[in-house]
Amino acid sequence: MNEYRGNFIANTWTAPTSPDGHLVRENPCRKSETIYEFGWDVASVDRAVAAARKALSGWDRLGLDARMPYLQRFRQALANRAEAMARAIALETGKPLWEARTEVSGLTAKIDIMAGEGLQYTADVYPEGLDGGSFRARPLGVVAVLGPFNFPLHLANGHIIPALLSGNTVVVKPSELTASSMQLYFECIEEADFPAGVINLVHGPGPVGAALAGHPSINAVLFTGSYETGLRIQQATLHQHWKLLALEMGGKNTSIVLEDADLAQAAHEILMASCLTTGQRCSATSRIVLHEQIADAFTERFVELVSRVTTGDAFADDAFMGPLVNKAAFDKFIGAQQLTENANLTPLLEGGPARPDLDGYFVKPAIWRAHKVDPSGAHQSCEIFGPDIIIYHASNDDHAAHIANATEYGLAMSVFTADETRFDNLAYELQTGILNMNRSTVGASSRLPFGGVKKSGNHRPSAILAGQYCTFPQSQLRQRAGWTDDQLQKPPLSLLLGKF
Ligand code: NAD
Repeated sequence: MNEYRGNFIANTWTAPTSPDGHLVRENPCRKSETIYEFGWDVASVDRAVAAARKALSGWDRLGLDARMPYLQRFRQALANRAEAMARAIALETGKPLWEARTEVSGLTAKIDIMAGEGLQYTADVYPEGLDGGSFRARPLGVVAVLGPFNFPLHLANGHIIPALLSGNTVVVKPSELTASSMQLYFECIEEADFPAGVINLVHGPGPVGAALAGHPSINAVLFTGSYETGLRIQQATLHQHWKLLALEMGGKNTSIVLEDADLAQAAHEILMASCLTTGQRCSATSRIVLHEQIADAFTERFVELVSRVTTGDAFADDAFMGPLVNKAAFDKFIGAQQLTENANLTPLLEGGPARPDLDGYFVKPAIWRAHKVDPSGAHQSCEIFGPDIIIYHASNDDHAAHIANATEYGLAMSVFTADETRFDNLAYELQTGILNMNRSTVGASSRLPFGGVKKSGNHRPSAILAGQYCTFPQSQLRQRAGWTDDQLQKPPLSLLLGKF
């Protein structure tokens, strides 16, 4: 990593002088190599929140038009440093460089979308015929942004941009696994020269995130990460009734392939969705429901395709998949291959460690045939967050919907069919925030809402609607100063005036 610079608070880089802990980040492609290490402390959270609180009124009162040039300068700085950020993401996550570049290109696009069509969802409203009546979006205040490791810049950016546009001030805590790309992102913030305290950065692991989320002076927590952490945040803030939580959490996502589908299209799309980012996407496909008429033909084609997936170093030219992100992720994936409830699952492609020559957290994808739908069994219920795919068979559309819904998550699903009416009918049944037709579960559009139901979210969808959870509606009824004779002569004022 470029030299570790510490937290960015009120436009100044500062490393903690008496850290609460020390963090060492290893290269997921080469375990013996340290990418960065740093000392972290919880006390920095107080300083960052205080700086953001101090900056709030000024930033809010600037108004959208005067805030925009800061965002545009930031956009330019991001564009200038795109390659450096992509390389940092590839190094710390292990995702192939070509994929990291795609993530980075989305950062400036997000600013364009949110500062363009995104604003219509928080625009002032003047109801027709309601004299002097309007409502407008007001910022929530100081917001905390907590990000995951898998898209370290794209997902934090998805909260940060709408929060800043709508007049909030921000404290960001990135994943401790991806501190170096966020440092570069904040060097762009520094270059954009925001007023001090408008946007701040604190680094550290879970305890720093917990201190930030639970801070009494935080008005909202914009979180992307696992269900387990989201639940902890919800529990920890139960008595902070003023705090808005926008929780974007995990997924156990299903593709349904009906018998009239184009099987080549379905196999290719589902391959991408299950193996890109080594299966570490919230919207990754980990369950496939096949109509029994095409089940064997599809399975044969799909297993053959997945077995061709190449694995390698993030900077290799031919790697489709990099490693899993760290030892914990690797152990979880390997552990899932050995769960005893696998009695209900027959391996079709055996998952396990890969590329022993490379000394990283590399794995081979796993494909299973489920003989029984077991939504409470560990393997079938957990988000494994790796390339692990379970295949189910269904006898008709209703049966397919039943199996697809037999999971506690509800982020993304897709249906492969030539028949739009069947898709529309399934749309009534499927419990999911994102539903695609003849496309995989991944590759969401920033111009649509992004969020899930059940364990995947709390009904605060992100992407194009993110401005809504960054604001509250303030209703205003205005009338001109002074009474009219007409008002004075009608009840109830006429009753009083008559009396006195
Ligand atoms: P994670 O939940 O382990 O960590 C997310 C963030 O929370 C990190 O910054 C972490 O340091 C912080 N954190 C940890 N403990 C905390 C606590 N007690 N209080 C406050 N913050 C705390 O998630 P991860 O492993 O980094 O990311 C993978 C998960 O994120 C997967 O479950 C994936 O599905 C999910 N995800 C969801 C979306 C979405 O939009 N729905 C997108 C990407 C990833």
